[in-house]
Amino acid sequence: MTRQSDFLVIGSGIAGLSFALRAAELGTVTVVTKKGTAESATNYAQGGIAAVLGPEDSFEDHVSDTLVAGAGLCREAAVRFVVEHGPEAVRSLIDLGVRFDASREAPGFDLGREGGHSRRRVLHAADFTGQEIERVLVERCEAHPRIELLANRISIDLVTTRKLGAPGRARICGAYVMDEESGRVERCRARIVLLATGGCGKTYLYTSNPDIASGDGIAMAFRAGATVANLEFMQFHPTCLFHPEARSFLISEAVRGEGAVLRNRSGEAFMPRYDERADLAPRDVVARSIDFELKRSGDDCVFLDCTVLDPAFVRSRFPNIHERCLQYGFDMTKQPIPVVPAAHYACGGVRTDLHGETDIENLFAAGEVASTGLHGANRLASNSLLEGVVFARAAAEASIARLRETGDFPPDFPEWDPGRAVDPTEEVLVNANWDEIRRLMWNYVGIVRSDKRLERARRRIENLQREIREYYWNFVLTPGLVELRNLALVAELIIRSATARKESRGLHYTVDHPELAPEALDTLLRAPLEPS
Ligand SMILES: Cc1cc2nc3c(=O)[nH]c(=O)nc-3n(C[C@H](O)[C@H](O)[C@H](O)COP(=O)(O)OP(=O)(O)OC[C@H]3O[C@@H](n4cnc5c(N)ncnc54)[C@H](O)[C@@H]3O)c2cc1C
Repeated sequence: MTRQSDFLVIGSGIAGLSFALRAAELGTVTVVTKKGTAESATNYAQGGIAAVLGPEDSFEDHVSDTLVAGAGLCREAAVRFVVEHGPEAVRSLIDLGVRFDASREAPGFDLGREGGHSRRRVLHAADFTGQEIERVLVERCEAHPRIELLANRISIDLVTTRKLGAPGRARICGAYVMDEESGRVERCRARIVLLATGGCGKTYLYTSNPDIASGDGIAMAFRAGATVANLEFMQFHPTCLFHPEARSFLISEAVRGEGAVLRNRSGEAFMPRYDERADLAPRDVVARSIDFELKRSGDDCVFLDCTVLDPAFVRSRFPNIHERCLQYGFDMTKQPIPVVPAAHYACGGVRTDLHGETDIENLFAAGEVASTGLHGANRLASNSLLEGVVFARAAAEASIARLRETGDFPPDFPEWDPGRAVDPTEEVLVNANWDEIRRLMWNYVGIVRSDKRLERARRRIENLQREIREYYWNFVLTPGLVELRNLALVAELIIRSATARKESRGLHYTVDHPELAPEALDTLLRAPLEPS
């Protein structure tokens, strides 16, 4: 089966849906998304979206906070672009119907404060911000006559003119997409493709990310010949609830922003020992401090003490977190809650320019899958939802302009060829390999790294990839196998990037190279052309 539209959007989080709504003003849009329409990291975002709206805030302050967090590796033009388009991006969400909390004390919005921000600038909808944004975007896309929203469709691979054997700069032609219910692979042709597949937190054993975050977009783009950048910078969120059934439920940084304090098992507020900003230090500093503290004490977790806050305020400002903690047996207004760090956000991704375009013509990327240069070596809290909207809109503008210039469709490409694949007999292998990759990444490529651990990780991932490759080409594809192959490739790319960086900068900390190199350089990786 073949589908054809002006725009193909892969992913239905904040980036994909923001792009779709703007692009649909010009042409037809197909949005494919694996799992349910709203299942995305966006839907779980709690803290909010940063933008300069407060009377005492300024673009310069937001730019400066972002650059400081990014540890010398941000692309300043990208930072300015996002910050200066922030208020307008937020207004576009409000115009669509997103309801952010209003201030109780003064006219305007209730602006929260988070680690690394020198001002209150985080708009939120209680602590359900992402859910509120996703709800509105999905409703708007579903109601739009030119947008077709297809759930349970997993994109397998991108097709470019290079893959079809044409010389010159590669141009995107579309993608192969599997209907997860029937197992049928469809050919989706489009003039413009937007990758908006989110992050890759599932490469790690402990993560705040939902299951969709298997790095598919990074893997697809890399296999198609696009450059990926700075993948070693995985942000670990310092505070996920430590409970066997909580699956790394996140305790937003806004809780510390409002005054909650981290303590070790003996009750000591340990952060001032590590950083003068104490509990408001940037995430990487806090996550690393917790890691040191846990290694030093041998404890399983540290504790976040919210009892210093007014209980009524906690219940109204953090209703979701308060409720979920109660479900797991912790009343955060009465007792400190156990927390640990977990993989949270990929600062690197598919390299794009200031219009969101990759090195493949007409292939754009936005949101967490992209590396725009905004985050550098570390993301400032609540900058990612903002980046998702700003760059999705920029990519939509650029692609609309492109289509107005050149209207032609790219070359057609053949139907999916399943080859001589047979039904898999041992689906258990897929699960076992997933588990092995995630454990090895957690143990060897985690918060604190070393040359020896990275070398071990490299050897192990190579062996695993050999096995997965064999499996991939011999058996009928399943969504699980598509994700496993991507997860393994992304793990390899993270290991290669971490190995290449012989310094400690931002989120990348290695005991063998604890100093900062004199020059801040990006880690860029580009693939051989053929699929691995
Ligand atoms: C628990 C949590 C809390 C967070 N809190 C905040 C916050 O307060 N503020 C903030 O700024 N950021 C926050 N973040 C980060 C932020 O939510 C994400 O970076 C952002 O939502 C990413 O948006 P996105 O559109 O790029 O991707 P996502 O929202 O993750 O959407 C990705 C989409 O791509 C689809 N997809 C993936 N692979 C494929 C494939 N192969 N084929 C088809 N579809 C595919 C997925 O199904 C999904 O629809 C948080 C993240 C988490 C996990």
